[in-house]
Amino acid sequence: MNTNELTLLLKKFFGYTSFRPLQAEIIQRILRKEDSLVLMPTGGGKSICFQLPAIYLPGTALVVSPLIALMKDQVEGLIANGIPAATLNSLMPEEEQQQVKQLCVQGKIKLLYISPERIQGEVDWLLPRLDISLIAIDEAHCVSHWGHDFRPEYTQLSVLKERYPDVPVVALTATADKVTRKDIIEQLNLRDPKVFISSFDRPNISLTVRRGLNKKEKIAAIVHFIGRHKGQSGIIYCMRRNDTTELTEELATYHVKVIAYHAGLSPRQREQAQDDFINDRADVVCATVAFGMGIDKSNVRWVVHYNMPGSIENYYQEIGRAGRDGLKSDALLFYSLSDLIVLRRFAEESGQSEVNLEKLKQMQRYCESDICRRRILLSYFGEEMDHDCGNCDVCANPPQRFDGSVLVQKALSAILRTGEHVGVQMLIDILRASAKAELIEKGYHKLKTYGAGRDLSYREWNEYIYQMIQLGYMEIDYAAGRVLRMTPLGKKVLYGKLQASLVVYRRPDELARPIREHDKRSRHAAHPIRPIQAASVEETLLDSLRKLRKQIAEHEHIPAYIIFSDDSLQDMVEKKPVTLDAFSDIRGVGQIKLDRYGKVFVALIRFVLKLPEK
Ligand code: ADP
Ligand code: ZN
Repeated sequence: MNTNELTLLLKKFFGYTSFRPLQAEIIQRILRKEDSLVLMPTGGGKSICFQLPAIYLPGTALVVSPLIALMKDQVEGLIANGIPAATLNSLMPEEEQQQVKQLCVQGKIKLLYISPERIQGEVDWLLPRLDISLIAIDEAHCVSHWGHDFRPEYTQLSVLKERYPDVPVVALTATADKVTRKDIIEQLNLRDPKVFISSFDRPNISLTVRRGLNKKEKIAAIVHFIGRHKGQSGIIYCMRRNDTTELTEELATYHVKVIAYHAGLSPRQREQAQDDFINDRADVVCATVAFGMGIDKSNVRWVVHYNMPGSIENYYQEIGRAGRDGLKSDALLFYSLSDLIVLRRFAEESGQSEVNLEKLKQMQRYCESDICRRRILLSYFGEEMDHDCGNCDVCANPPQRFDGSVLVQKALSAILRTGEHVGVQMLIDILRASAKAELIEKGYHKLKTYGAGRDLSYREWNEYIYQMIQLGYMEIDYAAGRVLRMTPLGKKVLYGKLQASLVVYRRPDELARPIREHDKRSRHAAHPIRPIQAASVEETLLDSLRKLRKQIAEHEHIPAYIIFSDDSLQDMVEKKPVTLDAFSDIRGVGQIKLDRYGKVFVALIRFVLKLPEK
């Protein structure tokens, strides 16, 4: 089959006019009945790689997926595009399972989403009765012990290759490291597979890190942030269950439509929360990291990390839940020393402390670094990037440096004079000549360095000491009550043999300066969805389109983004199609959606533009 024919199918069923990188190649390989391993970031477009050949090939495609919510979502999406699909998992009522099986046996289902344990159960009954066109194994990293998502049922999937050696298998994942890759190929028994690795860059997600804010400031910053994202969906990840509920209450007082999600809720409550979020009844969810595993909502516009995640993999997976539709999205991370200390303890107490401490260290470096954040991320995933991204806070505010040797000397000499007995806070108190009782009791007010740093604020010292730790001039001795110790590198600065270059301290509110205009126009920048304020035609139109989409969604009992993605609405606002023909050119409008929704949407657009009805 040539690429033109494939592209026609893509438009007909999915409403897209071109493939993304690698998609066409992967599809061709499946059509040639060859095995593949596909590594693509979340939102990269994995699904179409097996959905399109499944439509084209005779028979039923098996799609193995561990996440029931995700299956449901994909099946709804397929059905909305006129493709017969169904799910089979053990949580469905027996009767419904029987119905689905019947339909499959009758050859009426093109894609069957099935959980790994159902595969086990159906090896002898259902599977032999099917004409299997291809096997797609989603979230394939679950087969590997390395990583955190290991699922024992996945290791049984090699039975598929044994029983159906001629059926092409495509394994897909967004977790890329080498160990996992090797595991997948071996455990699933892939036959001479080709490995497809697409870029892990998500240029539409802007990256911002803010450090050193206390709880109150964090909340204020979040309220401000949400204000800039009115009516848009977002997730706030918290480390602790308590924070999710507290933050939810706090944000509710600002009239944010917000819900909490954590492991302490009953399964029913959790399902309800997910449902409210997916169906736009709640804009914001404050959640522990368990949230989002099975969520395929394409129009999540932002992700906030209230606490730092434990590894770059986790961070990347979590921010990856934003902007799956490719539109501009924002990721904001709050980083504080106290989080770091807690995470360190988790890592130390975990079974794999060495690995986890190392992963945490990388995450920490990411937060603290003053080079383009996207470069750090991509290099972490083994990709080269030869330019700054223009869409992160470091690029937006390149740091200004100064010779901070004297500051380092003051701090180190104070530390030494206490016999390396103080932590960060006491050190600052000494430098700034505080009269705290504890300080006087210990006699630190008699030290020569007492008050040597009076010219800087507490905040500034905090920031600089913190930089000194990162630069390796001093370290925190966690085993000895977190006292500060001088390092050999610090000694060189102390004796004037090495110059210490520090980054000029900026107040927290300066750190979050909006990205400069010219950066916004960088080659990656996607179109922002403007908040609905005054009534320009575009804004009124977008607002009306959203409302229509919501009405239809409620009527049909499916999430709004399954009717049309934000990207499709945006395209409608830009192109303003006032005929069915023009409407068919909108991104995401395939044949079925044209037939089903074309007329009402065109009528609405004509109405808003004050054109006569047709
Ligand atoms: P993944 O499974 O890799 O996380 P999806 O398959 O859900 O990603 O795709 C993410 C989004 O990109 C979806 O909204 C999908 O419709 C869209 N998409 C996929 N392929 C294309 C394409 N060729 N052109 C435009 N949009 C696409
Ligand atoms: Zn950058």
